[in-house]
Amino acid sequence: MGKKEIVRMTHQRKIILEELRSVTSHPTADDIYAMVKRRLPKISLGTIYRNLETLSVLGLVQKLEVGGTQKRFDGDISNHYHIRCTHCGTVEDIFTEPIASIEDLFKKVDKYKVTGYRLELFGVCPQCEQ
Ligand code: ZN
Ligand code: MN
Repeated sequence: MGKKEIVRMTHQRKIILEELRSVTSHPTADDIYAMVKRRLPKISLGTIYRNLETLSVLGLVQKLEVGGTQKRFDGDISNHYHIRCTHCGTVEDIFTEPIASIEDLFKKVDKYKVTGYRLELFGVCPQCEQ
């Protein structure tokens, strides 16, 4: 990989990150592909996947382990919870204080050194409820 290649990759990565940070919809890789393609018409879905993995490893994006068929991504890396609509699949943010007591509880009962946990709320969104 030449220097030019690295610069081009970094440029793509920057645009992927910008697009992801511009929305709060927790898009799938396919959604991000459609968004980025408007700015980089020649980009491939494989490149999107690879860059999302790299950005995730770098801690610049959050890979969401929510229910549903496809992985979703979040440009907001702060500690926050998500709620998923079981009808339409919408995933939204819930901003509340992190539940520190849950972590404390499992720290005491487990032989493992607990480094985190996942909590996903699900229900029916206002649009689907109507
Ligand atoms: Zn819904
Ligand atoms: Mn989020």
